[in-house]
Amino acid sequence: MKELFNSKEFEEKYHYDKNDLGATYLREKTMFKVWSPLASNVDLLLYKTGEDGQYVEKTTMVQEEKGIWAIEVERDLKNIYYTYEVTVNGITNEAVDPYAKAVGVNGNRAMVVDLSETNPTGFDNDKRVELSNPTDAIIYELHVRDVSISDNSGISNKGKFLGLTEAGTRSSQGEKTGLDHIKELGVTHVHLLPSFDYCSVDEGKLNEKQYNWGYDPQNYNVPEGSYSTNPFDGTVRIKEFKEMVKVFHDNGIGVILDVVYNHTGLTEDSLFNKIVPNYYYRQNSEGGFSDGAACFNETASDRSMFRKYMIDSITYWAKEYHIDGFRFDLMGLHDIDTMNEIRKELDKIDSNILMYGEGWTAADTPLLEEKRAIKKNVPKLHERIAAFNDDIRDGVKGHVFYKEEAGFVNGKEGMEESVKFGIVAATSHPEIDYSKIIYSREPWAKEPTQTVNYVSAHDNFTLWDKITETNPGDSEEIRIKMDMLSNFIVLTSQGIPFIHAGEEFLRTKFGDENSFKSPDNINQLDWERKSKVKEVYEYYKGLIELRKAHPAFRMTNSKDIQNHLSFMVMPKENMVGYMISDNANGDIWKSLLIILNGNREGYEVTLPDGEWSIVVNDKVAGTKVIDKAVSGKVSVPPIGALVLYLE
Ligand code: CA
Repeated sequence: MKELFNSKEFEEKYHYDKNDLGATYLREKTMFKVWSPLASNVDLLLYKTGEDGQYVEKTTMVQEEKGIWAIEVERDLKNIYYTYEVTVNGITNEAVDPYAKAVGVNGNRAMVVDLSETNPTGFDNDKRVELSNPTDAIIYELHVRDVSISDNSGISNKGKFLGLTEAGTRSSQGEKTGLDHIKELGVTHVHLLPSFDYCSVDEGKLNEKQYNWGYDPQNYNVPEGSYSTNPFDGTVRIKEFKEMVKVFHDNGIGVILDVVYNHTGLTEDSLFNKIVPNYYYRQNSEGGFSDGAACFNETASDRSMFRKYMIDSITYWAKEYHIDGFRFDLMGLHDIDTMNEIRKELDKIDSNILMYGEGWTAADTPLLEEKRAIKKNVPKLHERIAAFNDDIRDGVKGHVFYKEEAGFVNGKEGMEESVKFGIVAATSHPEIDYSKIIYSREPWAKEPTQTVNYVSAHDNFTLWDKITETNPGDSEEIRIKMDMLSNFIVLTSQGIPFIHAGEEFLRTKFGDENSFKSPDNINQLDWERKSKVKEVYEYYKGLIELRKAHPAFRMTNSKDIQNHLSFMVMPKENMVGYMISDNANGDIWKSLLIILNGNREGYEVTLPDGEWSIVVNDKVAGTKVIDKAVSGKVSVPPIGALVLYLE
């Protein structure tokens, strides 16, 4: 089968390129179309409800060209549930339409939906956030349930999409929470962990405590039911998801979806595999499912009908839900051509839509290395497709897996070049010694728009827990300085900055490194922490304010970085200093100086000529002058940083 599905003959004979797969609803009729080239029979089953009960009608579909099975039902089928019964190789399976736009509880039946009726008031005029360049984005990675589920969130719709629409919510200590908090922090985009329909949470038992990150896709084109107030009615999750998007947009915040097209939650029994067995998945040398995702299977973006599926699905979310960006899980399992094709199709809708992903695989894959959308192949990707920068992630605070291993901020020597590599967004710069970077040996980004800088995300330790692991003997005061310096680096570097929700108040998962199904008390944002470490929160907020006010931190191309950014000679090791000069990227400041110190002692640095003003030190961050450096020298605080400018 592998040879057949990989062959040009199969593609030429069966590739279907029209955009009418799934159920196309009109009041007077609904057209159903499904691609199943090897089926001997396909029936359409209609149901009154999304679960239980027998079908009310069963109709044999008509085989057409290119492996399509189709049927038109000439009456109003709005809110009718349906499945396909597909016979391939003598085996008959009932399957949900891969193109389902609405589903019943637990996604076990598709539903015919009139999408025009799912739009909240004003949705027709709803617009994506404006973004001049991808480097203007400041991304905040959030799980829908985590933000509201704690007792002290002050949010009513706990664990729901609607929880993110509530304004005016306050913690028990009176601090802003949820939407108000995100707005106050100043990030430009929220990046939601998987919010399409996934398998692992039983939507029929929402009274029971259940938790999952959601990296087990079931229905790609439908929002997850457990985040809706009623997963039994197929329209509710759609309406509430759109409501959430609209409220974010009304508040000037973009919505990015974490999409997981690299594998499916189920393997043999997935809806894809029931309809065209083995086609949608790559095979290993024995002919079984290959598993580059380390989740029992990996999809085959290099086969034309799955490539089409990804493009159709992503453009559907962009158009129907006004999504502002996509984060690709294990992007390295997708082929470069598919990623570039998605970019091209998204550009037809809105070129501001962000695309970035994990430039690696979880395990080995039969996809040839030169075709993988991995970090080292980023130069072959469109300049507006970015990869996560694990060099800066681990260079700043230590390895994600080796608990005790530290980085620049928490005591490891020799990390200067890795930090510099992050500062230039993994691009080429003449003053970096690439032989000393923690992982890479060469620049892997052509442009700063291809790099997402971060120090932690939902995977592995939170930043605060990591620092607790590496530096258990240090006081909380010292560890806080390490934390603040970490995201100082992220938020002042070139490229696209990304922070993990709650980092701004020292989020802890109590040392849980892999909380994908851990209970709420591990995963929830504990809003009490915001008031406990207000100075940390204010520091993050100030850095975000600074970045947004000063385009010098957001240069749009590598030539500008090479021309405007130069590194300084530092008096000690474990320090990095650089100047951004000549009103870079249109900045009102003529020159900026950024100096980082990973040492436990402060050091004096001689300044270039001029009257330098300090706007950030190790305690305060923002755009207001907090001090002047008048002596031609400045003291750089221990485990801390400075931002200075010249008008
Ligand atoms: Ca689900």
